[in-house]
Amino acid sequence: MIPIACPSIGEEEKQEILKVLDSGMLAQGEWVRDFEEEFAREMGASYGIATSSGTTALHLALLAAGVGPEDQVITTPFTFIASSNAILFCRGVPLFADIHPRTYTIDPERLREALERNPRVRALILVHLYGLPAFIEEILEIVQEYKLLLIEDCAQAHGALYRGQPVGSFGHLSTFSFYPTKNMTTGEGGMVLTSNEEFMERARSLVNHGERERYYHQELGFNYRMNNMEAALGRVQLKRLDSFNRKRRENAQYLTRHLSSLPGLVTPYTPKDSEHVFHQYTIRVREREEVIFQLKREEIGFGIYYPRPVYRQPFYQSPHLDPGHFPVTEEICREVLSLPVHPSLTQRDLDRIISALTRALEKSY
Ligand SMILES: *Cc1c(COP(=O)(O)O)cnc(C)c1O
Repeated sequence: MIPIACPSIGEEEKQEILKVLDSGMLAQGEWVRDFEEEFAREMGASYGIATSSGTTALHLALLAAGVGPEDQVITTPFTFIASSNAILFCRGVPLFADIHPRTYTIDPERLREALERNPRVRALILVHLYGLPAFIEEILEIVQEYKLLLIEDCAQAHGALYRGQPVGSFGHLSTFSFYPTKNMTTGEGGMVLTSNEEFMERARSLVNHGERERYYHQELGFNYRMNNMEAALGRVQLKRLDSFNRKRRENAQYLTRHLSSLPGLVTPYTPKDSEHVFHQYTIRVREREEVIFQLKREEIGFGIYYPRPVYRQPFYQSPHLDPGHFPVTEEICREVLSLPVHPSLTQRDLDRIISALTRALEKSY
């Protein structure tokens, strides 16, 4: 079986976690502080606040930015549900704008239309889906024009670049996830980045029960802390991130070279100013069922990210939410299929993936 995702954990990771265990300092401490500093520096932000997951990082980022009850926050309907749920955690109102049919990220034109219809929108959660920076230049223009708070959801895009600058350094705040399937992992874990001192202080307090000094609680906060074992793992993974991403890109280039001429298949698109880090290698295929049948037969892992727009999730069917209808998202949900692209794939794995797709599509056309 070729898995769709596979974390790469080496000897150094194991040794560093053992050091934490031997120290007896298992909870948040020195390792977490070092990881926060190193990760923020690498991603071009002044401050990092490590969290227990990408989801809690999103919640913290919105709270730090002051998003509260009834505040409208706009995002993409084509994402993992956490991006939008974080708005509900703050009792805010999620709104959506449709995606672009080639990048699958929010379409600046549709975003502008949505903002014209909803002048009260306060913030945008910009998702760099599958590892691709999401139309940064156009989005920054819109953010300025409509005076929005920009929160980048970089859970799938660690190390992705736009004009040489890392994602996560463009917004007022940004968030990352270190779940095992992501480009680097801490097991579970996340990070909030910001270069705004006020946002940093707020997030640092909220991650730890609203504590500003020991046992002095300024406001209602949470236990969203990362621990030292996770941070020790993250520090080693961060050093390996560039080589992981390089391998993902090479795998993606190889797949594209051999798949792009197949009938009825669209390979991923990378605009020229962007450096994609291929959290997912996602194709579009009309005959998705045929292809899935073949992949299963040949024991090749795959994923559908995502089969259903966020606004079609059962608990979004509420009279309080009136998200609208987004035809590009609907169409893309029916056609996307993600193939293995992770750094542990061998040449033989890549060739097996290519021949399975070739067999499936040549049969159906
Ligand atoms: C994975 C992911 C998250 C959530 O991260 P967790 O660490 O699983 O909580 C949020 N947004 C996007 C786009 C993701 O892919």
